[in-house]
Amino acid sequence: MHSALRPAAQPCFILAPGLTSNRNGLTRASCAHELRRAPCVWLARRRFPRQTAGPQHDASCLVPSFHRQELHRQRVVALSRRRTKRTAPLDIVAERSDSGNAQAVSGTQFQQEATPTGAPGKVYDRVVCKFGGSSVADAERMREVARLVRRQIELSRQYPVVVLSAMGSTTNDLIAAGDAALYEGIVDSTVVRNRAYAVCDALGLDREALVDPLLMQLDQLLMGVKFIRELSPRTRDYLVSFGERLSVRIFAAHLLYNEGLPARAFDAFDVGFRTDSNFQNAEILEETYDLIRSFFERVVSNQTLAVITGFIAKDNEGHVTTLGRGGSDLTATTLGAALGATEVQVWKDVDGIMTTDPRLVPNAIPVAEMSFEEAAELAYFGAKVLHPVAMQPALRFNIPVRVKNSYNPEAPGTVILRRESATMDRPVTALSVKRGVQLVDIVSTRMVGAYGFLARVFACFATHQLSVDVIATSEVSLSLTLDANACDMTRQQRIIKELQQIAQVSFSSGRAIISIISNVRRSSEILARAMKVLHEQNIEVQMISQGASKFNISLVVHNDEAITAVRALHDEFFHCSPSASNGTSTSATAAAAAAAAAAAAAANADGVRVAGAA
Ligand code: ADP
Ligand code: ASP
Ligand code: MG
Repeated sequence: MHSALRPAAQPCFILAPGLTSNRNGLTRASCAHELRRAPCVWLARRRFPRQTAGPQHDASCLVPSFHRQELHRQRVVALSRRRTKRTAPLDIVAERSDSGNAQAVSGTQFQQEATPTGAPGKVYDRVVCKFGGSSVADAERMREVARLVRRQIELSRQYPVVVLSAMGSTTNDLIAAGDAALYEGIVDSTVVRNRAYAVCDALGLDREALVDPLLMQLDQLLMGVKFIRELSPRTRDYLVSFGERLSVRIFAAHLLYNEGLPARAFDAFDVGFRTDSNFQNAEILEETYDLIRSFFERVVSNQTLAVITGFIAKDNEGHVTTLGRGGSDLTATTLGAALGATEVQVWKDVDGIMTTDPRLVPNAIPVAEMSFEEAAELAYFGAKVLHPVAMQPALRFNIPVRVKNSYNPEAPGTVILRRESATMDRPVTALSVKRGVQLVDIVSTRMVGAYGFLARVFACFATHQLSVDVIATSEVSLSLTLDANACDMTRQQRIIKELQQIAQVSFSSGRAIISIISNVRRSSEILARAMKVLHEQNIEVQMISQGASKFNISLVVHNDEAITAVRALHDEFFHCSPSASNGTSTSATAAAAAAAAAAAAAANADGVRVAGAA
């Protein structure tokens, strides 16, 4: 026996040569059972095309579709008789296959010693589909999302991994219910309960069995908050977790009972999501990747359509944590990375990532393609369309992310790729605005050339756990920005005191960062155009920083002027000049009108979005 192979603990399943055709009389029913049981499927072929040969090649592409539906991405190993390294098992496969009896056989055969490892998740290769709150806001939306899931199954011939957010505004409603219990002593979960009941009733689902147990726990929690008069970040995370836990149970039941799909609801912490204990904004721990893979191997077979809660996880003490608002995007990309998904789809209520926030600039247009880095900068600097950290797992494991509109599935959306794969020759990709930031000016009182100045300044900010976003320096001065409300008056006084020996420090609030996500190799052109436009609008730029990332030029302006500034810049870069083409449309104006109409339609449809602040 070949050393890399050993007798299988469980029978493996062999599809002999010739069985790749429907004429063999092998019915789906007769082989489905065996295929499902088999931990590994050997697909024996006498000849195997050179380009597809490989020791762990997934040969399901060679199996006709009716077999493939059973196989999905089960471990299919294609073997060629001619390949010397696999002589022993091949002989056996060949014996059987050469018997002329065109039947699938099972019995003690061989399986590989090592499962495919290396880059995570080469085992499953599925698509991860995440649907945001507005996509599952009510029963009609759930039906539509079920149609999208079906369409994905037909396209990829396997079940996607589905990630869901809480329905509509449930997360906000839960926060409001917690605050009412804490501050007013009112225990009232009616809004959350009514939505869950209405969706169950409209979908013909048994609400007592599906959602009542969770709603009862929710009421108990609110009662506890009322009496203990405490709502810590830890308790808040537990409170908001009910949103996602309700939505996956309802949606999985809909898929199972109304659509006949083998769906099963899972809470992300049971699937393997582990975080630190930084409640409300927890960081995913590295072990999560292995835990997810092992969970899928043990529990989620290829015959299961997993519907997993976004946003929530547990720390190592077993407390529920959350990944920060909008965290379901991060859940989806983490799953995609762990499972080596072919793609992560993020379904929202807009036609993809737009050139800027469509609520601020209604004629924003969708961006066809961008890099992980650009999307990350955009999200970090205020574009609420993606969770700021969601690109990290996708970038690390090179999993393409597609942002799509569940209200308009035909729209191509935005695909986010590795920089080398993306074809982008444009000055500006998108604009984002982060309002309400604090600007800190620090001027050294020491002589020019004194060393250790920056080190002391940053040590001081580190001690106060203040995260700095944008920086500009000169020999003797430094300007930087902090998040809104990051530094209250007391802390400001402390910092001024701590640094008074080396610098004069002044804080100004009410500023905004406008980030121009751009090709920084063209920074002179971009800055010249941006400054001209802002000068025409009488807008004073208080600080400029060209990111080390090479994707971002940040401008700090007054809060009050931020919207005017971003509209003027958007006109300049996306609608006025012929060089402003975003690679998405030859008629920017028509595309803009269509995008604005779609955004407005989506806004009206779910009643949550407010389109067009103009
Ligand atoms: P979901 O919760 O469904 O995942 P979000 O509400 O978090 O979706 O994100 C989509 C919303 O983000 C859009 O409705 C839009 O108003 C807002 N948004 C802000 N900036 C952008 C942008 N550059 N492109 C697209 N949408 C944006
Ligand atoms: N439900 C959570 C929120 O509203 C997480 C998410 O939607 O991604 O922030
Ligand atoms: Mg969101």
